Amino acid sequence: MNDEVIAKFGQSLRGALIGRNHPEYGEARKLYNAMIDKRPLLIARCADVADVIAAVNFGRGNKLPIAIRGGGHNGPGLGSVNDGLVIDLSTMRGVRVDPKNRTVRVGAGCTTGDVDHATQTFGRAVPFGVLSTTGVAGLTLSGGHGYLSRQYGLAVDSLLEADVVLADGSFVTASETENADLLWALRGGGGNFGVVTSFLFKTHPVSMVYGGPIVFELAEAPAVMRWFREFQPNAPEEFYIFLGLQMVPPADPFPKEHWSKKMCVLVVSHNGPLPEGEKAVNAVREALPKPIIDWAQPMPYTAIQTLFDPLLPKGLQWYWKGDFIKTLPDEAVEAHMAHAAKLPTGLSGMHIYPIDGAVQRQKRDATAWGYRDVAWSMVIFGVDPDPANAPALKKWARDYWEAVHPFNLAGAYANFMMDDEGESRVKAAYGENYNRLATLKRKFDPANLFHVNQNISPAA
Ligand SMILES: Cc1cc2nc3c(=O)[nH]c(=O)nc-3n(C[C@H](O)[C@H](O)[C@H](O)COP(=O)(O)OP(=O)(O)OC[C@H]3O[C@@H](n4cnc5c(N)ncnc54)[C@H](O)[C@@H]3O)c2cc1C
Repeated sequence: MNDEVIAKFGQSLRGALIGRNHPEYGEARKLYNAMIDKRPLLIARCADVADVIAAVNFGRGNKLPIAIRGGGHNGPGLGSVNDGLVIDLSTMRGVRVDPKNRTVRVGAGCTTGDVDHATQTFGRAVPFGVLSTTGVAGLTLSGGHGYLSRQYGLAVDSLLEADVVLADGSFVTASETENADLLWALRGGGGNFGVVTSFLFKTHPVSMVYGGPIVFELAEAPAVMRWFREFQPNAPEEFYIFLGLQMVPPADPFPKEHWSKKMCVLVVSHNGPLPEGEKAVNAVREALPKPIIDWAQPMPYTAIQTLFDPLLPKGLQWYWKGDFIKTLPDEAVEAHMAHAAKLPTGLSGMHIYPIDGAVQRQKRDATAWGYRDVAWSMVIFGVDPDPANAPALKKWARDYWEAVHPFNLAGAYANFMMDDEGESRVKAAYGENYNRLATLKRKFDPANLFHVNQNISPAA
């Protein structure tokens, strides 16, 4: 592509256009997952909707592969593309809380922490994930589950409206009353339908939670897992627990005698009156063996949301595989134990997140996210700072997944997949809503301009 064409495009933007010779190129192309090393031709760091429209038109007109980047947190690095155009929304980070209508308007480059910070002042929150550094855009468009999901549903269940630049460069708003089919598709169909420039969410009451990690010796894990599979589905919806098999980080403030010990962790979060939260957590304490660490306590919601951020900074190597789970039989527990015993590095592990309560109250076809009747979403993650360990992370995660997958469903949460699982797994991630999504893909993006994602092919 000639320099004049690129220069003209750059001049049309209010934000920066970063090419391979730009001094910020090295930094700008970096992704959260350092295992993914992509070299885009151009990064358009959009300042506003006009920039996004210009970028979509430029990419389409010049036949460039296009990637859309929100928080840049995606596992397989689908927020970037080799030799193509990255539409980078990371500076579009405005947040406006509307306390009267109990909503929040969120720029497409926001992290979940940006939004939590703004809404917490008003005693409200949107149900996002369990970390504050994740991008709202990628998390929401593929579903979004976390501490508040049992009580208030997925992030998509709180999505009221989205502003979108479509593949033809036109700008539309999708809501229940305007382009309702597009809103349906955005609620779980990922980045397939256009570039979302802002989101309008419903907010929900949250202030202090009674929460934090309770850590057990790995030897106790089978008992804890068996207890968890019975207890969690019947717990009150304000009481969320996720289960992890991993290692105690060898760092303060963890007690030195437990550093690098393999463990089973329950991360609890009760969003209700604190005395009720304490009572609920005490019941867990009484039912289970003595933990080696128990840090469950009253804390602001924003504190539990940021609790694990320092352990997982940008720039680590990540490889992960997921599945939805309906039941957790003893044989599955045994398979988990066999592979948890072989954790390859200190940051690797496995988490099981609840998908029930308010999530299950939506009908399967109410939104594009169709897994309304599963119990859990599992992710196995191989993580380490050292690139030399990448093959070992992959091998461990794949072997672990092979062993437990027979007990799980065919599909996984799209945000817990890499990009090497093949078409049938991508289809399975969208489940029974795939055909309708493919029909809407044909309507909104017939040439599959937005294909750097867990891709839905336009229906024939
Ligand atoms: C450490 C860690 C913890 C996580 N915890 C959770 C969790 O608790 N709950 C949960 O649900 N998920 C969780 N995730 C998964 C997370 O939701 C995905 O990684 C998600 O893709 C991140 O979104 P992003 O905007 O940061 O990603 P990006 O890499 O910026 O984008 C990913 C994809 O989203 C699409 N996209 C992004 N922005 C837009 C836009 N504005 N318009 C259209 N499409 C867009 C594109 O297809 C893009 O390829 C976690 C991920 C990590 C790494």
